[in-house]
Amino acid sequence: MTALSSLPPPTVTIFEQMSGLARELGAINLGQGFPDMPEDDTLTGAAVRSLTGRSNQYPPMRGLPELRGAIAGWYGAAQGLEVAPEEVVVTSGGTEALAASILALVRPGDEVILVQPLYDAYLPLVQRAGGIARLVSLTPPDWALPLGDLEAAITPKTRLLILNTPNNPTGTQLDRATLEAIGALAERHDFFVLSDEVWEGMLYDGAEHISVLAIPSLRGRAVKVGSAGKIFSLTGWKVGWVVAAPAIAAAIADRHQFITFTTATPLQWAVAEGLALPSSWFATHRARYAHARQRLVSALTAGGFSLLPAQGTWFVVADLAASGLPADDVTVATRLIREGGVASIPVSAFYAEAPERGYLRLCFAKQDATLDEAAARLVRFRTGQRTIGRIGCETGLAAPAQPCKPAHKHR
Ligand code: PMP
Repeated sequence: MTALSSLPPPTVTIFEQMSGLARELGAINLGQGFPDMPEDDTLTGAAVRSLTGRSNQYPPMRGLPELRGAIAGWYGAAQGLEVAPEEVVVTSGGTEALAASILALVRPGDEVILVQPLYDAYLPLVQRAGGIARLVSLTPPDWALPLGDLEAAITPKTRLLILNTPNNPTGTQLDRATLEAIGALAERHDFFVLSDEVWEGMLYDGAEHISVLAIPSLRGRAVKVGSAGKIFSLTGWKVGWVVAAPAIAAAIADRHQFITFTTATPLQWAVAEGLALPSSWFATHRARYAHARQRLVSALTAGGFSLLPAQGTWFVVADLAASGLPADDVTVATRLIREGGVASIPVSAFYAEAPERGYLRLCFAKQDATLDEAAARLVRFRTGQRTIGRIGCETGLAAPAQPCKPAHKHR
């Protein structure tokens, strides 16, 4: 075997695959999570001013002091958290925050508990750090975390638990009682908790974000990951951060120093300005997404789809069986993009083992016209599949002889 032939084949994520197919086929892309709304120029204007009027040279390794202060201040105002600037490390997106945290906390042979459905970066990063993954699964339709399963996954080798709240793909959040129970377990068994909270700014219907750092038993052993890309809907900016007790933040900064070292200086200035905007700006920003969500949910529900309850993110999850499409999610997603003209993401793609196969994730962060056309196509597709019997109740492929029975009772 040569050095070249020993290289592993490249992995193409499901998000890239679906976006590529959507471009090729001209499908509406409700797959990958990015907004197509016109951008608010508050942040982009600040970035333009920063590019020409501030520095374009290396910022301090841990981030501009102004941004670290702004992050601490924003968490105080928005979530009532007491955060000191030395607890903040600015990274190149939430993704680098996750990488630096996992590489800092996990040693070869350590066990790491991951919760499925899981964001695609977690497992490869844990493996790269030499960690051994233990998997626990959320249970639909409410995607609750079964604490008994979590406790059963803990061993003397457990070093880290990775959480994602609000969760991508489910759109649900962990409640305070669950986080407190996790805190008690983390204290008793002495492990760290890494909480991916990049969706913290996208909660609807009055739901409030509950951070791991708001839980006293977790405050000294948890790492919170945030992302300006999600808070301001500027996914290409890749400005993120970690917040953790000073000793943990220092260990993570040590990794960050040799991954990217720093993050684009002008964008850091712009995000610092953005985080100082009044709370009304954030409320207006969120309201646009609440509107988009309502528009897609109403149209799909009226057209016979059954969507699972959720509190946040840019995603809704359709229950395929309850929507009268009781086939596996990859089959439905493939037919939907090819025959229905809409890209989606099968939820099974978020599992490393024993996947749930009956759910499809749809991104609603789109303009009204895009959502209306996508919903019309989805409803047509659903009706068409049922009429021609390509997807039915009994085998998943034959026409239904009986009306389809929903798998779960929910809105
Ligand atoms: N974690 C989750 C759960 C996400 O959904 C995303 C983005 N889709 C990220 C992390 C990555 O964040 P960023 O784009 O800031 O790297």
